[in-house]
This record gives sequence, C-alpha cells and structure tokens, in this order.
Amino acid sequence: MNDYQDKLHRFVFDDTPIRGNTINLSNTFKATLEKHNYPPILRQVLGELMAASALLAATIKMLNGALILQIMGNGPIRLLVVECSTDFGLRATAKWQGSLNKETFSELVGDGHFIITLDPKDGGQSYQGIVPLEGKDISEVLENYMERSEQIPTRIWLSCDGESAAGLLLQKVPDHEEADSDAWKRTCVLANTVKSSELLELDARSLLIRLFHEEKIRVFDPKLTNFKCTCSRNNVGKMLKTLGKKEIEDILAEQGSIEIHCEFCNARYAFDEIDARQLFETRLAPSSVRKH
Ligand SMILES: [Zn+2]
Repeated sequence: MNDYQDKLHRFVFDDTPIRGNTINLSNTFKATLEKHNYPPILRQVLGELMAASALLAATIKMLNGALILQIMGNGPIRLLVVECSTDFGLRATAKWQGSLNKETFSELVGDGHFIITLDPKDGGQSYQGIVPLEGKDISEVLENYMERSEQIPTRIWLSCDGESAAGLLLQKVPDHEEADSDAWKRTCVLANTVKSSELLELDARSLLIRLFHEEKIRVFDPKLTNFKCTCSRNNVGKMLKTLGKKEIEDILAEQGSIEIHCEFCNARYAFDEIDARQLFETRLAPSSVRKH
C-alpha cells in the first residue's frame, strides 16, 4: 500500500479565502466493488461518485451521520448510490440494464435526477435536495448542484482508472471578504491543469505543490477511508417489523421464509417463521419473567 492511498486531506490557502480537499480511494474502492460484477465503465463512474462523496462529506459540518449521493436516470445506467459516513466509511451500489457501450456520461445516465441526502445518525433533522441531472460528467453534476442549491462556488476534479478513484475539491469560503478578487479564478485555472494520472498517483502535498507552487497552503492531518456497510440483522428485523405482522405472515405463508439481500455488500438475511414471530414478541423485563 502506498502512503497516499485511502486518505482524505483537508487544506486551506493561507492568503486567499479558498479551501479544499483531496481524496484517494484504493483499497476502499476495491473492497466496495469486490462483491459486485460491474462493467468497467460502471466501475469508473461509480468510483468517481465515491471520490466525490468523500470530498463533499469533508465540507459538511455534521458530527455523526452520512452523506448519500444518488443519480437516477433513464439511460442504460438507471441508478448510482454512494454513501459516505462522517468518518469516511463508504459503500456503493448501482443498477443498469443492457450493454453499456455508450460513449458519454450523458448517454449512459440519460435524463433524470441528482439527489443528495444528509442523514444525521444522532436523531437530527435529515435534509434532501433534488435537482435535474445536468452536466457532462459527475464533477459537473455536483458543481451545478452546489452552485444552484448551496450557492457555494465549488469545483471538483475526479478520476477513476478501475483500480482506484481520486479527486480534488476547491471551495470558496462563504461570507468572506475577498481580498484577492482574482484568486478564485486563478486557482481554478491552475487546478484545471491537473491530469488524471496526477490525481491518482500523487500524494496530497505533491499534488498541491505541482498545481499551486506559488501559494501558501496548509495541509491538515489525513483522515483514513474504508469500506463500511451499515446493514445488520438487527436493522433488517426493524425494517421487517415496520411492514406489520399481517404482511409478514402473508409473505411467510407464501414463501416459507423471508430473505433480505443488502444491495451494497451482498449480505443475505433470512427470517423463518420462528425468527419472524420473535420480531413481534414483546420482551419482558428480566424482573417480570416468571417461571411456570
Ligand atoms: Zn450491507
């Protein structure tokens, strides 16, 4: 493993109101997709969305929760879903149909929507934003969303070669008196010279020196990324319970058992009649349990 792999670095420019992040997902990318047999182009698009989710998650002030990015379209790629937790645990899944031999991202996803969800796991209010799918690639879809909905100028560069995914995000610090009015434009022009191979192969410091060698930049300690699926038998049980006793009994009568499949990690959870009955049993507190 190379030193720069599976890390997110935050950085700030000292003299201009610009901040950013870099991300590399190598083992995280492989572990996330190893249970899926996706065509190469789908791996690439999903890898870019994974890198983008970590870059955006790093800009959000949420202590414990998850950022979910979804692209739903009417092209051969029907659905892309990526979830990144605030501690950079990622999972992803996709749905497609037919052959993916289309040339461009727009042809692959067709018309549809981009959905961004913030899901605080500590009981806070969740947030969802939905915008039409606009952009020639994942970066542009996200940039358009940030411009339109968040009104924070944000630029994103992404790359995925099927083995790892990487990216760079630049953001204008909001509500900041801009001392150097040209800074944002100049920084974006410099960042635009980045090559895919540089995003994938350079560590954060080397990448930033290569792009912005005249700027003073502070790079913070990295955060480690990993593959993490939040599914569990307990959560599946809770979900089944919400369907109601009657519905569960009907499914069991018809199928004998209920099998739930996690589309992110391919785990399977089976519930037979006894398991299902236990879901609806009210547990008695130990002190009130009587022996007969
Ligand atoms: Zn799972």
